[in-house]
Amino acid sequence: MVRRESHATDKEGGREWMLERVGSIAVAWLREHAFERCGIGFGGPVDFARQRVALSTHVGGWQDFRLSAWALDLLGIPVVMDNDANAGALGEAVYGAGQGASPLFYMTLSTGIGGGIVADGNVWRGADSWAGEIGHLTIRPGGPACLCGAHGCFERMCSGLWLEQDWGKPARELLDDPEFVSRYVVDVALGLKSCIMLLNPARIVIGGGIAKAGDKLFRPLGEELRRQITSWSGARIDVAPAALGDDSVLWGALALAATI
Ligand SMILES: [Zn+2]
Repeated sequence: MVRRESHATDKEGGREWMLERVGSIAVAWLREHAFERCGIGFGGPVDFARQRVALSTHVGGWQDFRLSAWALDLLGIPVVMDNDANAGALGEAVYGAGQGASPLFYMTLSTGIGGGIVADGNVWRGADSWAGEIGHLTIRPGGPACLCGAHGCFERMCSGLWLEQDWGKPARELLDDPEFVSRYVVDVALGLKSCIMLLNPARIVIGGGIAKAGDKLFRPLGEELRRQITSWSGARIDVAPAALGDDSVLWGALALAATI
């Protein structure tokens, strides 16, 4: 990795503001580096076949946007885009904690919850690019309303945005409390159990800010998974933190660009 820049998002600025920022950074880099290809990990659902952003629940103006075509116009090189969870999954599969583990399930546990499936080196996207959206599995029927319009979703019960809203403290602080963690891992394991039953992944890799809690989260989570998944199942329970930290998506975008 030769260059890396990270900036805060102006939520009010919407799509045009963000394109202007991203574009000016890319054009500045172009003066120093020759680009061959461009890989994009977008923070929301992407229609992969049509290379369009499906929508963003966090920032307005992205619905059905041709982001890859925009980048091609700007840079004049081949561009490929996927959602950030699929890109993160590919990054961990090729360069990180998922190396040698197939199929791999990758989950981001941060502001929201996203998921991606990599099997035999390829992202498995399903018929309409919506596979792996583990954040909107229902884990608490009749639970509180989620941003997607359903109730009791995995993301609604376990993501950082909602933890802070429900408990009045950032997730980082909440995870210092073993009593909180012992309740929290019950819901996280409910979501992951569905994934294990459906996919029998060789490994589950968890990235995102909450996964940085390390052993104080992963140890009780492993115990809870072994409690919920009875000895009836022969599926392995192998859950590991992401190895690429905040950069799983960046490495994944690189791996994705290598496929075009
Ligand atoms: Zn939902």
